[in-house]
Amino acid sequence: MTSVSISKRLQTIARYCPEGARVADIGSDHALLASYLLVKGIASFVIAGELNEGPFQAAKKQIHTLQVKDRASVRKGNGLAVLQPGEADVVCIAGMGGQLIVSILEAGKDKLEGVQRLILQPNVGEEAVRLWMIENGWQLIAESILQEDGVIYEILVAERGNPTLPYEGKDRTQQELLRIGPFLWVEKSEVLQAKWLHEHEKWQKIIVQLKRSDKPEAAERIKEIEAEVKWIDEVIACLRTDKQ
Ligand code: SAM
Repeated sequence: MTSVSISKRLQTIARYCPEGARVADIGSDHALLASYLLVKGIASFVIAGELNEGPFQAAKKQIHTLQVKDRASVRKGNGLAVLQPGEADVVCIAGMGGQLIVSILEAGKDKLEGVQRLILQPNVGEEAVRLWMIENGWQLIAESILQEDGVIYEILVAERGNPTLPYEGKDRTQQELLRIGPFLWVEKSEVLQAKWLHEHEKWQKIIVQLKRSDKPEAAERIKEIEAEVKWIDEVIACLRTDKQ
């Protein structure tokens, strides 16, 4: 069978797929993750869902080259609409904004029946995804943060359970941990530090720009951002101290 090479980000997602699972990859683009899961013998069946015609055709072509048609289904449609309830054990949604991931999950809640695990990789807006999990009975069971080609990615894995458990007994409030990630906070990796240093830099640049503005609302906005920067400073200080 042809080999499939995928990014470190997709490999990390693949590591969270239990062996033998029926995996739905929603927004599969070229179906690389789905192909990898089949070629490596991780998934017993894959469903690659795609909204747009170009990537849908690319996904079909990719799966076809692997000659594993019997263990794959490439479907065109919006989010979880491509699934029947009970068809998948694992749903992966990767490489989109957190808000889009949440809207896909929200719109397709009935299709999550029988799904045991969610593997979500928001490019931005991780907080919204963690909040959706809490509000919908999904317990975060693992998180990964990694850097590839200068970009930082977070991967969130959840199963049905007690959604507030990962946030309990920590030295940060739930509200803060929704932003940082409860598992990432415990792990305190160099990449997490790099993420928050980057956020710090981003807000500092915005402050400099706002200070040049003569709009009346600029002063108020600067105050808000300074409070944010102070919080980030404190998060970074803790990450550094606790790591030593
Ligand atoms: N999941 C792949 C990955 O992580 O490498 C591809 C990510 S790509 C940036 C996002 C893909 O999701 C695109 O191919 C896009 O067409 C598709 N997409 C966006 N919204 C979607 C939706 N509502 N339902 C299904 N696919 C969607």
